[in-house]
Amino acid sequence: MSLFTTDAIVLKQFDLGEADKIITFYTKEMGKVRAVARGVRKTKSPISGLVLPFSYNNVTIYRGRSLDRINDIRNKYSFSALREDLTRMAYASYMAELVEKVGMENDPNEDLFSLLLTSFYRLLRIEDERINYVDLAFKTRILGILGVQPELEKCIYCSKPISLQEHNYFSIEQGGLACTSCYSGKKERIASLSGESLQVFKKLLNTGLQPIDKLKISKGALIELDKLIDSFIIYHLDIRLKSFNFLHMIKDLG
Ligand SMILES: [Zn+2]
Repeated sequence: MSLFTTDAIVLKQFDLGEADKIITFYTKEMGKVRAVARGVRKTKSPISGLVLPFSYNNVTIYRGRSLDRINDIRNKYSFSALREDLTRMAYASYMAELVEKVGMENDPNEDLFSLLLTSFYRLLRIEDERINYVDLAFKTRILGILGVQPELEKCIYCSKPISLQEHNYFSIEQGGLACTSCYSGKKERIASLSGESLQVFKKLLNTGLQPIDKLKISKGALIELDKLIDSFIIYHLDIRLKSFNFLHMIKDLG
C-alpha cells in the first residue's frame, strides 16, 4: 500500500457519484494532488468541513492505481472567515485558482505552497482598504516563483540600465521596461507606468508580502500596476481564470 502524508491546502472540490467528492489540494511535498473524499456528502461525514476550499490540513493520501484517495485528514486551520466574507472569498478564490492552474502534479514547489498559505493568513488579517495589496504582492511574487520575472532594471531591447522616471514604458510581450529611445515604433503594446507604480513593483518583486503592512500607494498607481500585472500574467502564463471577472467586479465595488 502506497501512502504519503503532507500538509495541504484545498484549492477546489467537485462532486463524484452519489456521496463522494474529488478534492484538489496544493500540497507541500507532492505539488498538486487530486484525491477522492469518500462519503463526504453524507450528512454525518466527519470530514465534510475539512475539504472546503482554502482549508489547511495535514492529509494522508492513498495512491490508487487510477484515483488517489484521502486516507486520513486533520485540520490545521480552517480559514472559514475567508469563505464567509464575499470580498475575501473573491480574492482567495482567485489565488487558489491561479495556483491550481500553475501548480504541477508530483512536482512540489514549497515557495508556491508557502506563498498561498501566507497570502491566506494575510487576507484574513489585513484591513479592508489594504486587501488589494495582498493580491498585488501575491501576483508579483508568483511571477518570481515561476521564473517569469519582469525586467525592471534595464531596457529589454538594448540592455541600457533604466533609472526611475516619472513616466516609464513597459512591454508586456517582451516582459520588461523599455528605454526612451527603444519604446517608440515598436509593434507590440507598450504600457506606460508611473514612477510610483514602478517603485512599488520593484519593492514587491524583491520582498514579496513583507512590505504590505507599510506599503503606501495612491489609488491611481494601484489600479495601473494591478492592470499591468494582470496583462502580464495572462500573456506570459497563458491562463484565463474563472474567478478573475468576479474578483474584478468586487474590486470595482470597493
Ligand atoms: Zn533601450
